[in-house]
Amino acid sequence: MVAPLLSLAIATVGDALTHLPLRYEDRRTLTPARQARPAMVATVAGVVAEGRVTERRGRVKGYFECQVVDTSGSLSVRWYNQTYLGRQLADGTPVVVHGRVDFVGGRPARVMMVNPEHELGDGIAGAHLGRICPIYPLTRGIAQRTLRELLFHLAGHHAGQAPDPLPAAVCVAEGLVSRADALLGLHRPPPDADLDGLNTFRSPYHHRLIFEELYFLQLALLWARQQRTTEGRPAYRTPPALGPRLIAALPFALTGAQQRAVAEIEDDLRRATPMGRLLQGDVGSGKTLVALLACLRAVENGEQAALLVPTELLARQHLATVRALAEPLGLRVELLVSTLAARQRRAVKADLASGAAAITVGTHALFSEGVRFRRLGLVVVDEQHRFGVAQRLSMVEKGEHAHLLAMTATPIPRTLALTLYGDLDLTTLDELPPGRQPVQTVVRSEATRARLYDGVRRQVAEGHQAYFVYPTVERETAETARSASRMATELASGPFAGARVGLVHGRLATEEREATMARFAAGAIDILVATTVIEVGVDVANATVMVVEHAERFGLAQLHQLRGRVGRGTAPGYCVLLVGDGEEGEAALTRLALLERTSDGFALAEADFAQRGPGEIAGLHQWGDTGLRFTDPVRDRDTFLAARRAAARRLAEGITGDEIARAIKLWGDRLGLVEGG
Ligand code: ADP
Ligand code: MG
Repeated sequence: MVAPLLSLAIATVGDALTHLPLRYEDRRTLTPARQARPAMVATVAGVVAEGRVTERRGRVKGYFECQVVDTSGSLSVRWYNQTYLGRQLADGTPVVVHGRVDFVGGRPARVMMVNPEHELGDGIAGAHLGRICPIYPLTRGIAQRTLRELLFHLAGHHAGQAPDPLPAAVCVAEGLVSRADALLGLHRPPPDADLDGLNTFRSPYHHRLIFEELYFLQLALLWARQQRTTEGRPAYRTPPALGPRLIAALPFALTGAQQRAVAEIEDDLRRATPMGRLLQGDVGSGKTLVALLACLRAVENGEQAALLVPTELLARQHLATVRALAEPLGLRVELLVSTLAARQRRAVKADLASGAAAITVGTHALFSEGVRFRRLGLVVVDEQHRFGVAQRLSMVEKGEHAHLLAMTATPIPRTLALTLYGDLDLTTLDELPPGRQPVQTVVRSEATRARLYDGVRRQVAEGHQAYFVYPTVERETAETARSASRMATELASGPFAGARVGLVHGRLATEEREATMARFAAGAIDILVATTVIEVGVDVANATVMVVEHAERFGLAQLHQLRGRVGRGTAPGYCVLLVGDGEEGEAALTRLALLERTSDGFALAEADFAQRGPGEIAGLHQWGDTGLRFTDPVRDRDTFLAARRAAARRLAEGITGDEIARAIKLWGDRLGLVEGG
């Protein structure tokens, strides 16, 4: 039994007690045997009588049948294929049975409970029946009954001794039950517990664990932030000169949102403590320019800046953009990616070390060993959700108390942003540059496929390019890769014969994938068939159409991200969301219609969370694993805010080392915190 338990990550009593039920069944009420009726799911307690085994040959190997007799009368019960029960359930044995009552064949048909769960005893002291019964998540090799029994006993013997890591003052102020009571209540809910509350994760027991989890997370985040903001570093005192020159040379003016963001960043940079800021902004809102202006501040104050991006292609694109803007100002801009030839790489590294490179654009190659800066003052992390917290901090450590500007185009509800990036201040670009045309979006069913191809052909004939995107929901499987490559072949040989069709998916080697993306960007491919590995932030201005296959499998926010790949040039962009036939597709026609009406990424993110409903945390994969065990950042928004307030209050009041130590032990690895640091 140990191996299956380990695969559920249960190694200690403490682990076991936090292995929480998925849901609860109401098995409290005992039905008098005489009142059991067909189609009822009933629990009946009584003693066994008239037990008898019937042997058979064939598929059904026979059955054990008996009467369960209570003071009201008796009920027939039959277990197919379990003739061994004849030995366990001798006449006179007290037993509780739980299951569906049915008619069983023959003339006349008889009322009978078939294949019930059963438990010896009177149903008052047992693990399974006669109570609100927890149903646990399982793994192969362990049965529900075994696990339930184990936890029933563990909770009974050990939950009471569970130490309470939350300070008593917090428990009292927030009206929380103790940890011991929470664990006991979750595994052995009292008969008068609120079943609905238990099943929606809103019981006082759940609330307590969720609060505790969020409290320590927020404590770690706020503490990290306090540490950072007490570190000394030189403030930027030189007045901005390069930025205004750059802006004057631009063919457009900054948007109001960009100006606000620049001002907030400037405010940070004028302090003698490192900045930690998250810049959120919808696709195309102009984050790069804001980041570049921050880089210029670092440079004119005698420091270097680095721009970290998740892919090489994106690095090369940013390099081109940044060079075009910064070189006229007399600044050296370098590229550091892993595919550089050894000689080139050495040269770039030398320029970083000497300080000759003012701004460096690069991938994770930037934070490899042996890369040293003379004075790295600012780290910008683009598409920051693609990096772990630890990665972004290891980059910051290349400098001395370097400023950090993290950027993301994945709009997330504020609560979630604070949960994931609570150590950062938040700036939002909530305005697109003027004149942007929203991508025209339509939701269509399979029946329109032929007409859709006509439309795409017209765009290609006009010299534009198109994407066909396949869903990769959880992770890329052989199947998604296959359906994408099958589609590429089909399109190339049929409806788009003569067009140049390319294919990218996550199972291809990075170089091959990036090479194809680069050819698409260069216009050497007309139609790109892709799974959702299709790079974030890649700018192919000539691509005007995106077709998303099986759009019903995506969340709204993700579809919004995807369609941001088209309509980036002067020509209007189109996005066709094709939904499959069948029930899921039908439902999606209405669900996805919101994308036809709005291009507000934040509204879509909120709607996405609302649609998926509480408890549906799967969508979070898009934002990286949160590491939260009990919390759903959307469902538990109020608890989250309360926990954050409580943690902030404790920090302000002066807190015990124990609490901080615990927070760091729990979250330090994830957050890249160094104890005592
Ligand atoms: P994102 O926020 O998605 O990273 P980018 O920084 O790539 O967006 O900007 C998208 C495009 O908008 C770029 O071509 C950029 O030059 C342009 N742009 C940025 N700011 C403005 C502005 N204020 N007015 C007009 N165009 C702008
Ligand atoms: Mg960008």
